[in-house]
Order: sequence, then structure tokens, then C-alpha cells
Amino acid sequence: MAKLGNIFDNNDGDFREVGGGNNGNGGGSGGPNFRKPRKQMVIYWLIAIVAILLINTVVIPALAKKNVKSSGYDEFLSAVDNRTIDEVELNDTTIRYTLKNNDTIYETGRIAYLGEVDRLYNAGAHFTQEIPATVSPIWYIIYNVLPLGIMIFLGYRLSKTLSQGGGAGMFGNFGKSNAKVYVKDKTGITFKDVAGEDEAKELLKEMVDFLHDPKKYRAIGAKIPKGALLVGPPGTGKTLLAKAVAGEADVPFFSISGSEFVEMFVGMGAAKVRDLFKEAEKKAPCIVFIDEIDAIGKKRNGNGLGGNDEREQTLNQLLTEMDGFDGTKGIIVLAATNQPDSLDPALLRPGRFDRRVPVELPDMQGRVEILQVHAKDVKMTGNINFEAIAKACPGASGAELANMINEAALRAVKDGRDKVNQQDLEESIEVVMAGYKKKNKVLTEKEKLIVAYHEVGHALVAAMQDNSAPVHKITIIPRTSGALGYTMQVDEEGNHYLQSREELTNKIATLTGGRAAEELIFKTITTGAANDIEQATRLARNMVSSFGMNKGFGMVALQAKQNAYLGGDMTTACSEETLARADREVIELVQTQYDRAKQILADNMKKLHEIVKYLYEKETITGEEFMDLLSRKDEL
Ligand code: ADP
Ligand code: ZN
Ligand code: MG
Repeated sequence: MAKLGNIFDNNDGDFREVGGGNNGNGGGSGGPNFRKPRKQMVIYWLIAIVAILLINTVVIPALAKKNVKSSGYDEFLSAVDNRTIDEVELNDTTIRYTLKNNDTIYETGRIAYLGEVDRLYNAGAHFTQEIPATVSPIWYIIYNVLPLGIMIFLGYRLSKTLSQGGGAGMFGNFGKSNAKVYVKDKTGITFKDVAGEDEAKELLKEMVDFLHDPKKYRAIGAKIPKGALLVGPPGTGKTLLAKAVAGEADVPFFSISGSEFVEMFVGMGAAKVRDLFKEAEKKAPCIVFIDEIDAIGKKRNGNGLGGNDEREQTLNQLLTEMDGFDGTKGIIVLAATNQPDSLDPALLRPGRFDRRVPVELPDMQGRVEILQVHAKDVKMTGNINFEAIAKACPGASGAELANMINEAALRAVKDGRDKVNQQDLEESIEVVMAGYKKKNKVLTEKEKLIVAYHEVGHALVAAMQDNSAPVHKITIIPRTSGALGYTMQVDEEGNHYLQSREELTNKIATLTGGRAAEELIFKTITTGAANDIEQATRLARNMVSSFGMNKGFGMVALQAKQNAYLGGDMTTACSEETLARADREVIELVQTQYDRAKQILADNMKKLHEIVKYLYEKETITGEEFMDLLSRKDEL
């Protein structure tokens, strides 16, 4: 499979909603939570106090009791008569006494009240208020020293956590990373368990290969990427993919969620990061997986005021660690997020998460495969039509599809059947997808059709011109970036830096191809072309004003780049009149290409319908499929 080259049509914004902005996900990042740790401390103190009380009221008396032997009143009397009594304690209903040369305490019921005291005096007994129960020295230490020890220990830990932010931690793991370590036989998840997502798997396989055979890379002096960022909507299998990487590579797998870093005291997050990497270094080669990294990786706000200190400290520590570890050691840091735009740019710099692995919503085929993977765990009747199910839930994520299978199984059980049938699955679509459509960007049938025509419009115009990069992929699955679909072209010779006038005009035509198709087919136009228009206009303006590609102006620059450090704004270097003329030229240039695009599409109407039909069904088509369809002879 070809590397993702320069995506130069509509790379990330095609069919973007106008003025839509980001979908305000406002995910619960949960800043540093001060209530929870304090609550935890209170619990620790309560435990300590209860323990001390228990020792005092139950353990010690019980032990004391063990050392008290009961004796008969007769024995007591004979001891008195034999003058062997040493100490005596008289209570209302009992008598406790010890004998000479003997530590044992005896206890007996008190029967006679008269004359006892005199007889005891005569017998030479010593009266005491209380005969102390003799307890073994170990218990004496526990009784006296342990509570004190616990108090000191708690105080020490508390002060340490507060003053230096971290340290070894309460009860040994308070400051520890708490990262769960998985090894292969525990997760057992491999790439086979992840259906679809071929692109993501392809990119991750390289990392697995490094962990298998680091020597191969080291020998040639290659630096393997230290980190990869899995980006995609919720429930598309990012966590699953990370586990699969660990399963395939057969190395220890540390998994921790970004939110786990921020729920401790100030400074604890940073300490956890440090600890995590220390552990990882010991276990290398290994994989460190930070799920939901946006919880710590949000953009730092430069103004310093009102910032979230804890999160920034944690993020800084993470950056330091990622810079710090030796790239050849075999630690690979994977992270997942569904809000890539909110991440601090520092995280995306080379040497950190420089690889981006898009994990997008599954297409038709992907949905079928995911349903099949999860159907394996459930008993089903033999004649299930997964295609029909997949078709009925465009925009469903892997998690939702997995959930559907489960809902269907629940329904079967409720009806007292032992196998899931088609009807169960169809019903469960409703259950799982209800409310989902409102929440997420799921296209209506009509919208999906418009997007399909729009994208094929781009692709067809591109393919029907010379000097145009081949189409690599067309998709009408909404992207994380907010695009409702896109057409990707990849240059075969890789990047090239000089572009001819023909290439540029063709590019403008390609950019207008989407809107052209909409207009031709639906006799109306939508907001979906906003980004195309922006790109086409910029190109056209540059051609006229900077590249000297316009006959009327020739090689005269109408705009010059100002100080690049001040945002690189363009300044105009010409009169108002010239400017107005340039505007007209730009408009004309785009208009001409738009007309040309419409002409190309009108000439290839049959192909347009044919390819759209195919794309509409499959939702994603590759460049080869596209070329196949294009070169196929008409059946008529
Ligand atoms: P994310 O981390 O992207 O939010 P998860 O990896 O937690 O999503 O996915 C949740 C569940 O959905 C998975 O445990 C799995 O059961 C199911 N799932 C999601 N994507 C896929 C897929 N491509 N193939 C198979 N199962 C999937
Ligand atoms: Zn477009
Ligand atoms: Mg996840």
C-alpha cells in the first residue's frame, strides 16, 4: 500500500460545514480533583483510628482474658488458708488473685462478703486496685508503638506528597503510575480482532516489526518513531488497536488513561508520568499506551493566568520523558484521542507523537467485518445477512456495532430462543442508534448522495485531465476533521516543487469539480464546497498576483510577502485600479475552470452516475477501483 503522500485536494476540510466550527465535545477532562484525595486521606485516617480502637477494646482485653484463669471459690479459700495468696483485687461480684511465686491471675465469683477481708489480711495478702493483666511483650509493643507508628507514617507521607508533589506514595502506590501491565497471554488481542481499519493496521505493523527486530533498524541507523497518535471518533477501536499492537509484538504493555494522571494532588500527575517511564525502561522493549491523552495533552494557554497548573506540569513531564528516553531501546508510546485539534502542538513535534494514525468510522465493508467478528461470540441462525444490517446503520462505530450484536442476543434470550436471528439484529439497530443520529454527524440518504456526487465530481475532473495527480482514495464517511467526505490524490513521483500553469489550472478545475457535479445533478448547490472555494480562490489569486501566470499582468508581482514573523501577511504593491482588475482576473480564472469542470462532467455523465452508485454502496473506494470503473467499457 502506498504511503500517505501529499493529499492535495481538500486535504482536511472538504465539505466542511460552514461556520460549523468544532463540534463542542466539551469532554469531561476533569481537572485536578482535590476532593477525591482529601476524601481518600480521611478514609486512611478512619481506618487507622478504627484499627487502634479495635486493638484497644477487643484484642487487648481478649488477650488479657486469656491470661486469667477461673478458679473455684473453694480453691480461693484454701489458698487463703494456706497463706499462699499474694495479691487480691476485690470487685462487686468477682475476686481476682495471684499466688506467690506465680504470675497466673485467677478469678472467682464472690460469694461471701463477711469476714473475707479480715481473713485475707490474716493470710498476708496484698490488696490492689487492679491486677494488671500480663500481656506478652510483643503485644505490649504493638499496643503502644503501632498506633504511634501509623500516625507518624501517615503524617510523613502526607507532608511528603504535599511538599514535593509525589514521591514513593501512600501505602506504596499512591504516587505510582497504576498503569496496568498486560502481557500477550492476558490480552490475547491481535490484529485479527480488529476488523477493517486496514490503513491504521498497516501503519502500526511497522512499529510491531521494530519491536520484533530492533537490530535490523539499529544496524542501518534508522530511528523508529517514538510515538504514534491514534486519532478517531469514539468507539472506532483505538484502544483495541493499541492492545492488538501489544499482542502482536508480544511485549509488555503499559496502559493508562490520561484522566488517571490528573485526579491526584498537584504534582502527582508528573510523578506518575516519571514512574510510568521508569517502569517502562525496566521492561523495554515494551509499549506504553496513554488512552484519552487529551485529558493532559490539551493546549497550554500561554498567558499563565488561570491555567491548569497540574495538567501543564504533567504534560511537561510527559514531553521531557519522551525526549529523554533512548529511541533505540524499544519503548514505543502510543496514545489515543478523539480530539486531535485540542492537543498541544508540542506533543506532535518530531521525536514525540510524530506519527498520526487515523482510525476512522468503518465503511460498508468494515461494518460487515466488525459485525462478523463480534457475531463469532454469539450463537446465530445460519442465514444472517450482515450486509443488510451494515447498510442500515451508516455512521455506526465499531463499538456500536458490537453493542448491536449484544442487544440482539439479549432480545433472543428475552424471547426464550437460543439463537439470534435477523429480526433481532434489525431491532437492535433501532435500540443502539436511537438518539445517536442527533448526537453525531450521520448523513441522511439525500445528503449522502450529494456528497457522493460531489466527491466523484472532484475525482472525475481530476482523472479526465492530463497533468493531474491520480486519485488515491474517495470516501463519503465523515472524517474526524469535520469533512463529510474527501477525495485524495497522490502524486506518483512524490513531492515536486515546481508546478506548471497547466497543473495549477487543472487543480482549480478539480477543486470546482465537486460543486459542478452538485449543480449538474441536483440543479442546486450546497454549503459543502466552502473549503474547495477557499482553496481555488487562493490558488487563482496566487497565479494572478504572485506567479505571473496571467497574460494581462505578465511578470508583475501584485502582492509581496511581508515579514514572515508577523504572520506572513500579504501586502499589495499596486494601485486600487490594478487591484480591482486583478480581482476580476481571479474571478474569471475560477469561473473558466468551473465551466470546464462542468463540461468534463457533462461529457462523462454515464461514468459519473456509475461511479457514484458504486461509491454510495461501498462508501470508500480505492484508486484502483476508481480506475477500473473508469476504464470499463460501457455495457450498452
Ligand atoms: P475507542 O478507544 O476508539 O473509543 P475502543 O477500542 O474502546 O474504541 O472500542 C470499543 C469496542 O468496540 C471494542 O472493545 C470492540 O469490541 C469494538 N470495536 C470497535 N472497533 C472495532 C473494530 N474495528 N473491530 C472489532 N471491534 C471493534
Ligand atoms: Zn469538495
Ligand atoms: Mg478508547
